[in-house]
Amino acid sequence: MTLDTVDAAVGGPAPSPLLLLLGRGTDPASERGVDCPGDLPSASDPDLVERARAAKAALGDSVFVLGHHYQRDEVIQFADVTGDSFKLARDAAARPDARHIVFCGVHFMAESADILTAERQGVILPDLAAGCSMADMATAEQVEQAWDALVDAGAADGTVPVTYMNSSAAIKGFTGRHDGTVCTSSNARRALEWAFGPDRRGERVLFLPDQHLGRNTAVRELGLSLTDCVVYNPHRPNGGLTARQLRDAKMILWKGHCSVHGRFSRACVDEVRARIPGVTVIAHPECQYEVVTAADLVGSTEYIIKVVDEAPPGSAFAVGTELNLVRRLANRHPDKTVAFLDKTVCYCSTMNRIDLPHLVWTLESLVRGEVVNRVTVDPDIAANARKALETMLALP
Ligand code: SF4
Repeated sequence: MTLDTVDAAVGGPAPSPLLLLLGRGTDPASERGVDCPGDLPSASDPDLVERARAAKAALGDSVFVLGHHYQRDEVIQFADVTGDSFKLARDAAARPDARHIVFCGVHFMAESADILTAERQGVILPDLAAGCSMADMATAEQVEQAWDALVDAGAADGTVPVTYMNSSAAIKGFTGRHDGTVCTSSNARRALEWAFGPDRRGERVLFLPDQHLGRNTAVRELGLSLTDCVVYNPHRPNGGLTARQLRDAKMILWKGHCSVHGRFSRACVDEVRARIPGVTVIAHPECQYEVVTAADLVGSTEYIIKVVDEAPPGSAFAVGTELNLVRRLANRHPDKTVAFLDKTVCYCSTMNRIDLPHLVWTLESLVRGEVVNRVTVDPDIAANARKALETMLALP
């Protein structure tokens, strides 16, 4: 399927000039709204690709560029490796010779890379305003308050925190401090089995910050019921739950979600099945429960890529994940139908903040010996967060 066909399938064109401009200058609506401390090249500069190529060549092995699957094509073409957030953090750690890690992704990913890489390596996020709305839905202060509520309810002792990779370093640090683990969308099941199993013997899990991944994994993969799950709303006293509800729950799900994956609905699945006969619906586990239970296949971005790559010619997929990745898969497989699950175009706007002008600016600054937008994690937070990450790495 060609790019045009995908555009037709999703009912919209390629990213608009407005999207291409996102991330330039101050964004007062963003928690991390910042100015780039320098002049960004113009998005219309016809030499941007050549400038990026030249700067990268000049930097040689001293720079390692990581590209998340949800990044734009104009950025991905300069990535030394691509992957999901966890794979990229590990790839960064496996390159101790690279002094500069340029992370084309979002803020929590750069933090994880900083935690897992050597101190002499600097991790750079080309636009510091590239955050993640899901990660921002759980602040350290809110999570400490939730833990206090668990203590007051007499439920803290049996509770094991499990945080999704898509969380701030502070939340990972909290998790490590309370002997919990990080998980990804690939190993969430193993993380929950570990939390409830002989290693931790948890009575319940506090799952942060994505309620959908927590619920989908607990109910679909561990066989818990929906009534075993409660949703903790950080904007209500005690999360909107009674002490008894906190004590009786097996899964305390943080009221957070991905603004991109949360858009898909059961109606999207029904509509695409009517539109593309025989289509295989494949959804990311950040989607709502009603979507994953209606889908044919559910899995992480790495899983989605593998399934589509390995399918025979003529296969048809409707994919419920970020649009940059879906478009790339469609372009890579013109002999297959790869459609976006929603009729409405929806990119991750923060992922899209990393564009070619920001990448060129970052690389050319490094060529001049100037390190811009370095992301560093407080050493105490990093130590606890590393503990939670290492627990994940040791999961069976
Ligand atoms: S796709 Fe969702 S979870 Fe991923 S960075 Fe964007 S908002 Fe965050």
